[in-house]
Parts: sequence; structure tokens; C-alpha cells
Amino acid sequence: MLERFINSVFGRDLKPQDRMLRIVLLIGGALSLFGIIECAVLVDVSVVFITLAILLIAMTGAIYAIFKSKNLGLATIIVGIIVVVLSFPCMFYMSGGINGGATVWFVLSLFYVFMMYSGKRLAFFLILSLGVDIFTYVTAYNHPEFVVPLPSERAAYTDSFFSVFAVGIAVGVIFKFQVQLYEKEREITNAQKEELKKIGSSKNEFFANISHEIRTPINTIVGLNEMILRETPEGETREYARNIQNASRLLLNLVNDILDLSQIESKRMEIVPIEYHTKDLFENLVNMTQIRMQEKKLEFQVDIDQNLPSILVGDEMRLKQVILNMLSNAIKYTKEGSVTLSARGEILRGGDLLLKVSVADTGIGIRKEDLEHLYEAFERVDKKKNVGIEGSGLGLAISKQLMNLMGGEITVDSIYTKGSIFTISLKQRIVDATPLGRVQFLEKKNEAELLYYQQSFEAPEARVLIVDDNEISAMVTSRLLKETKIQVDVVNSGTECLKRTKEKYYHVILMDYMMPKINGVDTLKELRRQENGLCREASVIILTANVLNDARQLCYDNGFDGYLEKPIEAMKLEAEILKLLPEEIVEYRMISSEEVERKKQIQQISRGKKKKIYITTDCVCDLPEELLDQYDIKMQHLYIKTERGRFADTREIDADNLAQFLTGKEFRVHSEGVTVEEYQEFFAERLTKAEDVIHISMAAHVGRVYQAAVQAARGFDHVHVIDSGQISGGEGLIVLYAAQMALEGKGVTEICEAVERSKGRIGSTFLLPTSRALYMNGHTDAVTAKLCDAFKIRPVLTMSQSKLIMIGTRRGKLESAWKRCIRYHLRRRRKIDSDVVVITHAGCSVKQQELLREEVLKCIPFKKVYIHKASFSCACTAGLESIGIAYYTKN
Ligand code: ADP
Repeated sequence: MLERFINSVFGRDLKPQDRMLRIVLLIGGALSLFGIIECAVLVDVSVVFITLAILLIAMTGAIYAIFKSKNLGLATIIVGIIVVVLSFPCMFYMSGGINGGATVWFVLSLFYVFMMYSGKRLAFFLILSLGVDIFTYVTAYNHPEFVVPLPSERAAYTDSFFSVFAVGIAVGVIFKFQVQLYEKEREITNAQKEELKKIGSSKNEFFANISHEIRTPINTIVGLNEMILRETPEGETREYARNIQNASRLLLNLVNDILDLSQIESKRMEIVPIEYHTKDLFENLVNMTQIRMQEKKLEFQVDIDQNLPSILVGDEMRLKQVILNMLSNAIKYTKEGSVTLSARGEILRGGDLLLKVSVADTGIGIRKEDLEHLYEAFERVDKKKNVGIEGSGLGLAISKQLMNLMGGEITVDSIYTKGSIFTISLKQRIVDATPLGRVQFLEKKNEAELLYYQQSFEAPEARVLIVDDNEISAMVTSRLLKETKIQVDVVNSGTECLKRTKEKYYHVILMDYMMPKINGVDTLKELRRQENGLCREASVIILTANVLNDARQLCYDNGFDGYLEKPIEAMKLEAEILKLLPEEIVEYRMISSEEVERKKQIQQISRGKKKKIYITTDCVCDLPEELLDQYDIKMQHLYIKTERGRFADTREIDADNLAQFLTGKEFRVHSEGVTVEEYQEFFAERLTKAEDVIHISMAAHVGRVYQAAVQAARGFDHVHVIDSGQISGGEGLIVLYAAQMALEGKGVTEICEAVERSKGRIGSTFLLPTSRALYMNGHTDAVTAKLCDAFKIRPVLTMSQSKLIMIGTRRGKLESAWKRCIRYHLRRRRKIDSDVVVITHAGCSVKQQELLREEVLKCIPFKKVYIHKASFSCACTAGLESIGIAYYTKN
């Protein structure tokens, strides 16, 4: 009964504030009652008695209102006003002011405010409470006659004592309540966490069991189907069998993916680093995918750096899984064209290798807005285009998680409708740095990894023992070895195995892991120390249908010589056994001429080493050709639209051509900038030659070129666009700075950060001969422009916050205006870096250019002076005979 009452009043389902209000009201009610008794029995102050009675009624009313209407907000406000504004100040006046116990009650009112309110309400009630307290004290001080004194000193002492006692108890009880509630809540949360953990691990157990349950019948289906395929000539039945093979493969992939994901989520996925041969890895990858390439008539290009170290340490299986997923996606999402597998390495400072593997395709590409969802589990993007393409949306999610676990990353550069490049990079320890040389896709042992069965050897003298409690499974494994002519025996338990190994020697034992009574691992242990055992040294391969007990881990931890996952693929089975049989009892089968032909179709290309970083910019940077060549800076040209067509700025048209388009009041040309698509092509082209591109763009608020570059770069993880905040020479200086850093081998982040910092150090000034260009570009009105021209007022502009702004004017003859402008802007000699200056001009004569150089050098003897013709776009904005100077200021 009491528990029910407590639960209904303070139950866990209530919001914390609701619960707090109920506690406060109950305690408030109890306090009022206590006060009334105190007045009646001890103090005998009838006015206080009445006040407390009112308070008690108000509290009871509020409690009733809360339980009835459930309007918590309103109730807290009402109680707040009763407590803060009415009851406690009244009690103060009625019970002796500062000589009674009322002062202590003010503490309780502040306590209530802090407990019950938050945000704006808290601020309001704090101010209100403080105001009321000050008002009460000040009024009582100035008008002592308002305060009803307590009848005697004894009454004052008693009142003070009871107030301290009551408030102390109230605060203590509330506090205790809260602590208890908190403790209870903590216990419940911990219990819930435990429960979730249990659910998580039982989910994993469920997956492990279900995986075993699903894999065992698939093993039978795949195995027997393989027999049908081998024994049936071409025809309808063989076609059906092929379809069964494809469907079971899909089912198996799905089971594997779900298991991988559940393992990753439960943090049970383990990375198992082992030594592996780089050549084997790539040969296997190519062999496993080339038939599908051929089926889809895709050109398969392979570009593996021959200098990669030949032996590395890493989780080869997981690495292969990720690359295989990239290759498989490239094939799935490409209708025609090519798929290119490339691998490069870079030796890091500590001596490890940074391995970079990329898969480029000419497929459907990925929309920029879809890129962020690419790695989400079960997320398939661009569903309309993907209709009919099988997939679960798990591959990339798993790949990303695996790369994280291996300490690497996966990135993508893509142009929608044109193709994608997926790249992984991860550290691998080098064991043997000898270059791996040319990868040979004709190597014998890789035959075993082909998608469709092709018998690779015969070994009639070899003896193999299969140990499996599942009879059908054992039969399938034994049938799969039929064509190799190996002598196969089958036993159905660990005990039988141990019996048999006392009687007969086997070269290889295939041991199932999950067997009743004595499992595979324990059987192996027994086998190795078996008295009079003939197979103590025999090679043992573990078979498992349960991928949660990582087969590799089982193999390496327990001293097996190999592992195979069920359903067993004929090719893999043969390959594993072949590895363990003595050479002298194996006869190899010749590779078919058709096979040789197919392998020849893999195009081995060599693109050479990629640059690390490409610095690119737009043609508005006004840098001389020799500098662009020297630093290998690539420029995207802006386009100029004229009556005669569209021309690439600085390549097909430049400032010298401006005069011919100037008629009367109008330019008959305009700058079209660059489209997003043109930028995409430009970046994609650069990325074929460099790992990263840093594009330094003209000022964001001059034209829309920067926006187009940023939009285009969204599809590329390896393109970084920076707003130089400048145009012309200023932009050129920043580009040179970045190019110099790239040449010194600095990294992307370092360059980008340094460039951002250097932007504030650029000083740039432009002097325009007339306001005409400003007017034509809509920056000023016709009257102002005419007036300026009439009085030879020449605008001076600069760049500020990526905008072109006017900072003054120069009057008088053009050349003297130039000189004064240069002198003025270069006057702070000590603040300007004298290393380099860039002077740009629109259509100035050689003599004029010399004059500009002399004047600049007169002011500051710069070590390098670049004089360069402005781009057409800049000349268009400024007008003929305009000049610009750009330099660095000191830090
Ligand atoms: P699945 O391929 O099974 O759907 P993934 O996780 O491997 O799942 O890929 C997720 C999505 O990413 C795919 O559905 C596809 O839309 C897109 N995608 C992946 N690789 C490519 C590619 N090479 N070209 C175009 N789209 C791709």
C-alpha cells in the first residue's frame, strides 16, 4: 500500500522535475503543518498561524491541481509565486523580522528556485526572489513598524530554532530523496547495460549458430552442384546448375557480410597480421576477378608498382577482402570501358610501407550528395540506376570498418556518370624489401583461385583422411577430390580418426572443427602426441562452417597447417592440399591454351610514379609561363564568350585582344567562368597523375569560379580547394608559395594551413586608368563614371575579404598617376617583404612596363620582379592600361 503510494507519487516514469515538484509540495505541506503545530503549541503567534494555514491550503490546492490537470509548468510557477513572493515575506513580517526564524526560510525559497527551474525561468525567478528579499529587508529596516514582533525572547529563540530545524530537515530530505533516486536509476541503467550486453552476445551466438546451420546445407548444395557441373555436358541442366552456383554464392556472400558486420559491431572482429607475399596477393586478386571482367567485356588494366617490397606483414585476408569488394563494385557498376587496379607504396620514416591500392572504373559514378551515405550499412545509393544490380549495401560499410581496424582509410574520387576511383591506404611492415618485379598472372598455384573449377593436378599416390561428423559434408569433400585421383578415406569422429591414424599414414588430414564429444582442435592435440601414431607429423587442415570462430585464428593458434571455410570451394581445396603434398607425388596439369589467351587480355600498364601533390589554379593568377612550367602548375582556363565563339582565356585570347572587343560604351564579350563539369574533368585528369590536388582559386566573391571549383571538388576526397582571396598577381604569389612547399615534399594539410595563413600577408593594389570598366561591369553608374573620366579621376582598388573594393583615386596624367600610386603603396618599406613582387598590366607597351619596373625598384629593391600581361578576364574587369602590384608583407 505504502509502496503503491510512493510509486504513484515518485514513480520512475515521471519526469525528474515532475517528481521533484511532488516531493517539494509534500515536504512544503508537512512543513506548514509543522509550523502550525509549532505556533499553536509553542509560540502562539496567531498571524503566523493564519499565514501557514493559507500556505497549507495553497499547497494542497496546488497538489490537487497537479494530479488533476498534469500541467507541470503552471504548477511550478504557482508554487514558486506562493513560496517566493507571498508566504516567506509574509512570515518574515508576521514573525519578528530578522529576530525570528523567517530569514532561514528565504534560503529554502532560493533552494526551491534552483531545483525547479532552468534557463530563462530560472533567471526570472532568481531575479524575482532576490528582488523580493531585498524589498522585504529594506522595507523592514526603514519601517520597523510593519514588522510584528514576536511576543517574547523565548518565542524568538523557539521560532528560530524550529525554523533552522525544519528547513534543515526539508533540505536534507529532498537531498536524500534525490541521491536515492539517482542510485536507483544508476542501478537500473547498469542492469540495462548488462542486459544489452547479454542480448549483444546472444545475438552473436545466434549468428554463429545460424551461420553454421546455413553453411552446412550450402556446403552440400554447392558441393553436389559442382559434381553436376563437372559431370553434365553443356545444355539446359548445366545452365540450371550454373544458376544454382551463382545463387548459392550470393547467399553465402550475404551471410558472410552480415556476420562480418555483427562481429565488427560487437568488437569481436580481430585483425590477424601475418607475413604475406605481395605478388601472391595481387595475382590472386587479378585471378579472382578477371573472368567477371571478361564476361562483362571490360578492359582490365593492372598497374602494380614493380618496386613494391616482396614480403609484407598485415592482415592479408582482410586486405584482400576490401580490395576484392572495390574490384567487384567496379565491375558491377561499370557497363563499358575499363577497370584499373593500381598499387603504389611509399616508405615511411619508421621504415614501414604506406601501401596505396586504388581501383578506378569508367562506370556510373556517384552523385556528390550520395557520397556521405556511401559507407552506411545497408545503404545503396542512386537506387534507380542500380536496379537489377545485385547488392546488399554492406560491402563498403564493412570495408570502411575494416580499414579503420587496420589503421588505414578508404577514400573515393568520383564524377557522376563518368566513373569512380576508390583508394585505400594503410601501413604494412616490410619483411623483405626486394622489389616484387613484374607480376605474372600465369603462375601455377594461382590457378586454384579461379572462379570456375579447373583441375590443376593429379596425385594418385597421395593419401588424404577426411574427418567430419556430417556424412554428406564428408562425402561432398571426398567427391570434390575425385578428379585429382587422391586416395581418400572418411571417418566420422575424432575418436575414429585417432584409431585410423594408428593404422595408416596420411599425407594430409582434413579435420572438421565442430564435432560432438571431441572437437577438431582436441583431436589434433591428441594426434600430435599419439603413442604409436603414424600421423604425428602429418599436415592437418581445419574445416569450419562457423566464421565467428575465425578459421584463421583457430588455425594459427592451434598449430594447424591450413584452414578451409565451408562451403568448400573445389579450387581452394585443391590449392590447400597441393601446398602440403610432397612435390614428388604431384603431377601438374598443363594450363589450357584458352586460359593462356584469357590471361593475355589483362593489360599490364605502368603509369609510373604519381606525383604526391599537384598545385592547380585558374588562369586569373597571371603567372608567367616559365614559372608555371618550372613548378609544374596546371591552370584551368576561364572561358570568354564573344560573337565569334567561346575562347579559353590566356590560351586563345588575352589582354592584348581586349581593344578589339571594345566598342563605344560596351564590351562585346563577357567572361563565362568555368562550369562545374569542366572543373570535374580538370580535377579528374590531374588525379591520374597525382595523389592529391590543391586548387588555389581566385577570390570567392569575384565571379562564380570559386563556387564551381568547390562544387566540383565535392565528388573527390583528394581535391582541396582554397580561396586565395586574391586575383591576378596576389593569387599568383599564393600559388607560387604552395608550389614551392609541394616541391619541398610538404603534406596536404601542412600546405593548406600555410596557404591559409599566408593569405593575410598579401598586399595588392590595382590602378584603373578610367572608371569605364567599372561602369561596364556594373560597379558604378554612368554619371559618376563620366564625371570621373572628365576630371581624370582614376580609381585605385584592392582585395579585401575576397572582394574587390575601391580604396581611393589618383588624378592627373596616367603615367604620373601610376608613379604616385606605386610610391604610395610601397612607402612602408620596412613592412614589405623585398623578396618578390608581381606587376601585372593590361595591354601596356614595353616602354611603359620598363617605367613600372623602374618605379617599383626605386621604392624597394625587390630581389625578383615578375612583369606579366594580365589575363583577358582581369583586363575585362579593370580596363586597358590598368596595372596591378602584389607583394608579401612581413610577418
Ligand atoms: P552494394 O554494392 O552491395 O550495394 P556497397 O556497400 O559495396 O554495396 O556499395 C554501396 C553503394 O555504393 C552501392 O549500392 C552503389 O550505389 C555505390 N557504389 C559502390 N561502388 C561503386 C562504383 N564503383 N561505382 C558507382 N557506385 C558505386
